[in-house]
Amino acid sequence: MSKYIVGVDLGGTNIKSAIVSEEKKIIVKTSVPTPTQEGPKAIMDAMANVVHELMNKEGITTQDILAVGIGAPGPMNWQTGIVYSPPNLPGWHNVPLADEMQKRLDVPCYIENDANAACFGEYWLGAGQGCDCIAVLTLGTGVGGGIVVFKKLLRGIDGTAGELGHLKVQRDGRLCGCGSKGCLEAYASVTGMVRTAQEEIEKGKKTILTEMCNNNIHAITGKMIFQAVEKGDALAKEVFNETAVWLGLGIASIVNMLNPERVILCGGMIAAGDILFNPVRETVMNNAFEVPAKRCEIVPAGLGEDSGVIGCAGCALTRYYDEHK
Ligand SMILES: [Zn+2]
Repeated sequence: MSKYIVGVDLGGTNIKSAIVSEEKKIIVKTSVPTPTQEGPKAIMDAMANVVHELMNKEGITTQDILAVGIGAPGPMNWQTGIVYSPPNLPGWHNVPLADEMQKRLDVPCYIENDANAACFGEYWLGAGQGCDCIAVLTLGTGVGGGIVVFKKLLRGIDGTAGELGHLKVQRDGRLCGCGSKGCLEAYASVTGMVRTAQEEIEKGKKTILTEMCNNNIHAITGKMIFQAVEKGDALAKEVFNETAVWLGLGIASIVNMLNPERVILCGGMIAAGDILFNPVRETVMNNAFEVPAKRCEIVPAGLGEDSGVIGCAGCALTRYYDEHK
């Protein structure tokens, strides 16, 4: 009889959940809105409900499940299972997430930083399958990062390793969400790209974006920039290229530091394809050492939007095996 692992990815907008077999087959998955404003208890109840619904649907009982992996925004302690105060989960303060979920689900529960979980998901079942060493960057409002070396998540001594979005790419550069300046995230995230477009428009550059946002540059979105690129807008192309170059500079440092087989990019922005990946690859070739730059493939995520939730299951299975060897 096959055993299963459950992944639950807690985001500020949605709770995603999936059941995966021990043989790495995705059995079922779903997504529901996060009751963000209702606080930790309501959110944990909602997560438990989602898991119970999936189990009922598939006729899977608690006895069939080895472990549940829960991905959440940091900061957190992955070993004690406590989530501190994530900026996008209001009311959360030192929540014993692993223990609380274990009470609700009656199976071993493990928590992971969501970006690390996404990285592990790509290594386990996505674009990093078969590799020993990968880095993953998730491009969204911020830039999430994760690293797998020798088939294990690189956690560092306090579990805070892999914050690739906060590699410094510019001295005294843009203010970053982390409070520091000049981080990769401030330039290469969707938010950073929008900011680049706004700065160029403020300098007086002409673009159809001005019309698209009804002269309100604060309404510009990443999607608008991509649409403007498709319509052949010169400034939008320049902004997209600039963003890709910043990303390439960050990746060049990752390539020099880790010598990875692959760097995998996740997030909505990767739908842009070659217009993103080509300048990224070129910048890496021009800025990293030749041997690791030639070795490293820079590729889109293999699991689309599901890297995180699948990775939660993968991390939980790994930790379950480690504890039950
Ligand atoms: Zn930062």
